[in-house]
This record gives sequence, structure tokens and C-alpha cells, in this order.
Amino acid sequence: MRFDFITIFPRMFDPLLAEGVIARGVKQGLLEIRVWDLRDFASDRHRSTDDEAYGGGPGMVMLGEPVLRAVEEIGAGHIVMTSPQGRPFTQAVANELRDKQRLVFLCGRYEGFDHRVHEALRPDEISIGDFVVSGGELPAMLMADAVGRLVEGVVGNAGSVEEDSFFRGLLDYPHYTRPEELRGMRVPDILLSGHHENIRKWRKEQALRATAEKRPDLLETAELDDEAREILRRLGKF
Ligand code: SAH
Repeated sequence: MRFDFITIFPRMFDPLLAEGVIARGVKQGLLEIRVWDLRDFASDRHRSTDDEAYGGGPGMVMLGEPVLRAVEEIGAGHIVMTSPQGRPFTQAVANELRDKQRLVFLCGRYEGFDHRVHEALRPDEISIGDFVVSGGELPAMLMADAVGRLVEGVVGNAGSVEEDSFFRGLLDYPHYTRPEELRGMRVPDILLSGHHENIRKWRKEQALRATAEKRPDLLETAELDDEAREILRRLGKF
């Protein structure tokens, strides 16, 4: 899978390529990442990428021409425009984007892009939440991380991705590691029992309990099998 990022701050992406799961995916050849400096597609000698807003008011606006030219030159892909006005990014959206061969992320700055970029490209406008950050680089990296880790082989143990929070619409169960006793707090006995079926059930119950307590809204759309419904009934949550 390939990710292209169009940005005026290409070096912001260095950390993504230096360390961690996504960087390893790139080294293994499972992911390909290209970072494009929007200034290279500017049409004046100052390499401008923004200008004042028509109609006045504070804040600069990203020029349309360099973005359109960049998209034309780097070739086709599913175009994601980072924007607080986009559809909310969720695990379901990450799963959907994973099926695209190539994602091109447009990273805005200032007041965002000239509105004609929307008209010309009809991008998939996506928001990382109902708040405003100062640029699209972090949102784009965040989405690329969530999508890239779903590509087969990128996370060493595929099972761990499937058990993460949200994968089946539920929160994750609690995790413990050594030592068995930490400052007087013991690991639940069942996890030391070696009884796999009981452990599986306990984890399922814990995941359902955590979801019911912290994010009851998720239970309305989660994939619940008969066992899960039975557990929720027992917990008095359904
Ligand atoms: N004036 C714009 C905000 C611009 S913020 C508005 O109110 O809609 C500058 C850039 O940061 C945006 O173009 C976008 O690329 C990015 N950005 C800011 N908040 C974001 C969010 N919640 N999700 C995704 N991208 C965001």
C-alpha cells in the first residue's frame, strides 16, 4: 500500500519514517511512503503556496494551483483532504481506506485550501475530531498509522490488531505483564491458570464490561454474538 503526503512541511514526516510500526512496514516493503513538498509545485519564483483571502479577514488561504498540479503530477490515488469539516475518522473508516491501493493526503495549513480544490478534486474530506489543529500533517500521519497497521504483515502478530479496541466495535480487554504482583496488586488468577477457554471468556467479558461502562454508545453498533449478549444480560447491561 502506498501513502503520498502533500505538505509545505515535509520534514514533519521524518519521525513516521524513522521509528515504529509504520517505519518497519516501509523497510519490509509492505508500505511505501512519498512526501511531496508543495512548494515544488508552485508557479511563481517565490514558490508561494498561500495568499490573502478574497473578501478580507484574518488568515491566509492555501493556493489552489499548486495542490492541483501536485495531484496531477504524482498520479492517481484516493484523495483524502484533512479537514475539521470532514467525515469523522473512525476504525470503520480506517478499515475502508485499507482497501485502497494508494492514498494521497492533502495537508492544509492556515485557513485551509482555496475552496475550488474541493470542487476540482472532490476529495474524501476526513476529520480526526471536533477540534482544530494547526495543520493537516499530524492528522494525516495519524490516519496513515491507523490504516498502515491494518495492512497484512505490518503488525507482526495479526491477532493483536483484531483484538484491539474498536476492531469488532468493542473496547479492548485489560492487559497484564510481569511481575505477578506489582506494588501489592495481583494479576487476576484466571490469567495464570493456563485454562485457555476460561481466559478467552474472561477477556470477552472484560471487553464488554469496559465498553458498557466507558462507551455504552458503542454497544448499539458492535458485532455481538449470542455469547456476548448473554454476558451483557448477566452484567445487567442489555
Ligand atoms: N479554517 C479551517 C481550519 C483550518 S486548520 C476550518 O475552520 O475549517 C488548518 C488545517 O489543519 C486544515 O486545512 C486541515 O488540513 C488541518 N486540520 C485542522 N483540524 C483538523 C481536524 N480536526 N481534522 C483533520 N485535519 C485538520
